[in-house]
Amino acid sequence: MGEALAAVAVRPRETELQTIALPDIAPDAGLLRVEATGVCGSDWPMYNSERGGARVLGHEMVGVIEKAGALAADRWGFKEGDRVALEEYLPCGHCEYCRSGEFRSCMSTDSRIPGAIRYGSTSVALGSGLWGGFARYLHLHPRTVMHRVPDGVPGHIAAMAIPLGNGFQWAYLDGAAGPGKTVVVQGPGQTGLACALAAKAAGADLVIMAGLKRDARRLEVARKLGADLTVAVDELDLVDEVSKATGGQMADLVIEASSAGPEILNTSIKLLRKRSMLILATRKGAIPNLDLDQLLGMQATVKGVRGHSFHSVELALRAMASGRYPLELLSTHVVGLGDVDTALRAVGGQTKMDIIHITVEPWKSEQRDPTFA
Ligand SMILES: [Zn+2]
Ligand SMILES: [Zn+2]
Repeated sequence: MGEALAAVAVRPRETELQTIALPDIAPDAGLLRVEATGVCGSDWPMYNSERGGARVLGHEMVGVIEKAGALAADRWGFKEGDRVALEEYLPCGHCEYCRSGEFRSCMSTDSRIPGAIRYGSTSVALGSGLWGGFARYLHLHPRTVMHRVPDGVPGHIAAMAIPLGNGFQWAYLDGAAGPGKTVVVQGPGQTGLACALAAKAAGADLVIMAGLKRDARRLEVARKLGADLTVAVDELDLVDEVSKATGGQMADLVIEASSAGPEILNTSIKLLRKRSMLILATRKGAIPNLDLDQLLGMQATVKGVRGHSFHSVELALRAMASGRYPLELLSTHVVGLGDVDTALRAVGGQTKMDIIHITVEPWKSEQRDPTFA
């Protein structure tokens, strides 16, 4: 036995440092010593939610397997001492989606379904309670999906396996970015930047990242990650700029990954060429004035996306191991458990900090960092 220090989200917008007893490990389960956990944009709505009771947030974990039951080791293909990156999903393993490799569509991965367990959003009242990455240990559920972290990739980089995996999923696997293609990404947040990187890695000819003037630093990072052109849309007209850059041909793929309101979609639609694709990666709500005739005229495909496949996360880890991309530029802050509240407020845009990706390292001192505010 022993215990784990954890930042428990006890009520909306408040975490509390608590110690949670380590569980006995069943033959089909295990225990992860958490090395690093990425803070995700989706942690912000969960941090604000009344639903679900007290829980340990954080669902983009990297760590070392401290304990693995014999059945678990056999099922996972990993043993004690292995360093792994985890997916947040705990898919059932036997439905049609799971059996066809599309396990992120499995009903068991949907946290809105009562009783669904998912890392980073499950109540501390359930079992051991160690179901989130903002803690020193995580209880490894039998249905955990793991990836081997290549040697030499530091924790704060490996903690971006999920957002970078989203980039490969949306830009390359779902969006078919590749040679000859022009790709426009709206929104230079961590997943938008990941899309730009993945589009370039896939061989796209021209990648254009759109943001705002205040995103100057993020747009600079986009260029360093491979974007050919960046546009501050409150300075220049994006449609004009894409038209100029493509000789009027416009984009083969537009990825909507911004936090802007629904109106932005009419701009995205104007960027499309014939037989192109618009990917919806961020929630926009109901849209009353969507120019459907323009979509029809362009014979465009609109695709909603969610998360990452196993393959996309493997591609992200390989990109990390290649050393070909300056991923350090994405990792703007590394903090301890005492700064989880500030980190969550920062991803929610509630601080003045210029952040891209924040990593929580639970074994760092839990004293607050006065410069992180
Ligand atoms: Zn996430
Ligand atoms: Zn399933």
